[in-house]
Amino acid sequence: MNTPEIKPAPKVGFVSLGCPKALVDSERIITKLRAEGYELSADYQGADVVVVNTCGFLDSAKQESLDAIGEALNKNGKVIVTGCLGVDEERIRAEHPGVLAVTGPHQYERVVTEIHNVVPPAHDPFQDLVPPEGIRLTPRHYAYLKISEGCNNTCAFCIIPSMRGKLASRPAGDVMREAERLVTAGVRELLVISQDTSAYGLDLKYADSDWNGTALKTRFFNLTKALGSLGVWVRLHYVYPYPHVDEVIPLMADGHVLPYLDIPFQHAAPNVLKAMRRPGTQAKTLARIEGWRALCPDLAIRSSFIVGFPGETEEDFQILLDWLREAKLTRVGCFKYEDVAGAASNALEGHVPQEVKDERFARLMETQKQVSAELLTSRVGREIEVLVDDVDEEGAIARSSWDAPEIDGCVYINGESELSPGDMLNVRIEHADEYDLWGVPVSSRT
Ligand code: SF4
Repeated sequence: MNTPEIKPAPKVGFVSLGCPKALVDSERIITKLRAEGYELSADYQGADVVVVNTCGFLDSAKQESLDAIGEALNKNGKVIVTGCLGVDEERIRAEHPGVLAVTGPHQYERVVTEIHNVVPPAHDPFQDLVPPEGIRLTPRHYAYLKISEGCNNTCAFCIIPSMRGKLASRPAGDVMREAERLVTAGVRELLVISQDTSAYGLDLKYADSDWNGTALKTRFFNLTKALGSLGVWVRLHYVYPYPHVDEVIPLMADGHVLPYLDIPFQHAAPNVLKAMRRPGTQAKTLARIEGWRALCPDLAIRSSFIVGFPGETEEDFQILLDWLREAKLTRVGCFKYEDVAGAASNALEGHVPQEVKDERFARLMETQKQVSAELLTSRVGREIEVLVDDVDEEGAIARSSWDAPEIDGCVYINGESELSPGDMLNVRIEHADEYDLWGVPVSSRT
C-alpha cells in the first residue's frame, strides 16, 4: 500500500489592527483557517500569504494601516487586505498597487476565499475531522447550496432583513468550489437556496471571482450556468421574477439545469401585494410565465401564498383564486397570515378573523388541488428521469425534475425494492392522483 503524501500545512501571516470588533473579525477568520488546516506564521518570511486587518476610524489609524500593508508587502509580497480601511480600496491600491485583494469589514468568507486563491487548503483526510464537502444533514444524494445571506427587500410580514441583514452574496468561485466538493462526495442534486436568489451578486457588483483559473461573474445567470456544467441536477429556489430571470429559461429548456423555478409569489391581488411591499411587479407575471412556458414547456413553477393578510378582502382573494386557475402552477404551498414579533404588518389595519383565514386556506388548497390533478394526469404515459430518495418493502420513492425534496410530490415505483437512494432511472408514468405519480422502470442509470 502506498503511504499517503502528507503535504505541509499552508501558513498565513496575520496582522490585526484596530478595535475589538476588528479583533473579533480576525478571530473568526483565523478560526476558519485553522479548521481548514492552515497554520499561523509568526513572521513574514515563513508565511505563504499575509492578511492585514486594517482600521479606518481616524486618520492616524488609516496611516498606521497603510504602513502595515507596506511593511507586509516589503517583507512577504503576497498581501490580502481586509477590515474597515477596505471600504477605501482606491486609496489602498493607489498607495500599494501590489496588494492581491481588498475586502471590507465583516467579510470573513471573502477573505478566506481570497486566501484559498493564493494558497489552497491542504485537506488531509487522515487527520481532518471534517470531510472536504463539510457536514451535512441531508441524505447523501442531494444537498442545499446557500449562495447568499440576508435580503435587501422589506416585505411587511418578514423579519429576515432585520435578523440577517442586507444581501451578502458568496463569491461565485467559492460557491462553485463547494458545489464541486459536494458532487465529488456523491451528491446528485444541488438545491440552490438564499433569501433572494435572483438578486445574487448585486451587493458585490457582480464581480468576477476565480474558479479553476477562469473569471466567473458573481451573477445569477453565470452561476446557474456554471453549476449546470457539473453534470448533476440543479434546482433553483427563492427566485423572484426580475426580468433577468428570463435568461435562465433557455438553460432549462436545454436540460442544463432542471426546468424548475421556486418563486414565492405570496399573492396576486395588487392591493395585497402593495401592502405586503413585495419586490418586483406582478402586473405582467402571467404573460412572463406564458413566455417561459413557450420556451420551456416542461417548466415546473412552485410557489407559496399567504391568505388572510391584513386588509385582504373577499375580492382580493377572488383575484388570487382566478390567478391560480390561470397560472396553473405546478406546486403550491399556502400559509395563513400570522403576526410575527417585529414585523411591520402587525400594525396594519384590517386584520382578518381566524375563521375567514381558515376558510380561504381551504378554498385555495381545493382550487390548487384541481389544477394539480389535471396537470399530473397529463403526465400519464410520459417517460421521465427520476432520482430515488428512499426505498422500503413496497418499492422505491423517487422524484422527478418537477419535484423538490420535502415540499413537492413523489414518483412511486412499486415493487422496485432493489433500488437504492441516489439511483437515477427512467420510468414510464402509469398513474397520477392530485399530488403524486406512479411509474414503472424503463431503463436505469445508477
Ligand atoms: S420575504 Fe423574502 S424577499 Fe421579502 S424581505 Fe423576507 S427574505 Fe426578503
